[in-house]
Amino acid sequence: MKKQFAVIGLGRFGGSICKSLVSEGMDVLAIDQDEDKVNEFAPIVTEAVIADSTDEKALRSLGVRNFDHVIVAIGDNILASILTTLILEEMNVKHITVKAQNDYHEKVLSRLGADEIVHPERDIGIRIAHNVVSKNVLDYLELSEEYSIVELAAGHTINGETIVDLDLRARYGCNILAIKRGEDIHVSPRPTEIIKDGDVLIVIGADDDINRLENHWIDAT
Ligand code: ATP
Repeated sequence: MKKQFAVIGLGRFGGSICKSLVSEGMDVLAIDQDEDKVNEFAPIVTEAVIADSTDEKALRSLGVRNFDHVIVAIGDNILASILTTLILEEMNVKHITVKAQNDYHEKVLSRLGADEIVHPERDIGIRIAHNVVSKNVLDYLELSEEYSIVELAAGHTINGETIVDLDLRARYGCNILAIKRGEDIHVSPRPTEIIKDGDVLIVIGADDDINRLENHWIDAT
């Protein structure tokens, strides 16, 4: 059976989630208190409804409790986001994802029992900062408070070296998970794999180690 999603708040974040879910073939109920937003999304999603999500009765009458996954994408109005999450928790919604505006907001949301808390602005800021610090850093994904995965462009200076030659594990405590070469991706590359100019190395490690790698080794490539 198709998974059913409800997205509350149709700003840029909630709106783009709706579009992506629809393109993945999911059923999406889109909710916003702003009529213009609802009209904009009505032709795109399965159903679009004008409602104030802090109104418990309104959420109940929409049957939101039966949805597999509810995404609260209310940005600026932190109180509305918190109240909505509380109501959804009390309704025992299976899975709740909430967009947090700041660390205090996140703390309250985790106390309320949100299953997943996302910080799109903060995360994109971190990604861009890594990219600005080193032009070789193409992307950055935080796995936990301590560990991340980073995509590094292999420069011409390491063209022809093997993974053993680079010795990232001993020098930086980082491991190469995969090598992207054009359209191909080599997962768990062999130690004898030769790196070519234009390759992208997907590296996992502790943040401190990745920072050292970015600052010292990558500058030389
Ligand atoms: P983004 O950064 O994703 O663009 P935004 O700045 O547009 O977000 P907000 O304006 O804070 O974010 O809120 C997103 C949407 O949530 C808005 O369209 C707003 O009408 C809607 N919204 C806010 N509060 C409620 C509520 N209580 N019930 C339903 N929708 C709400």
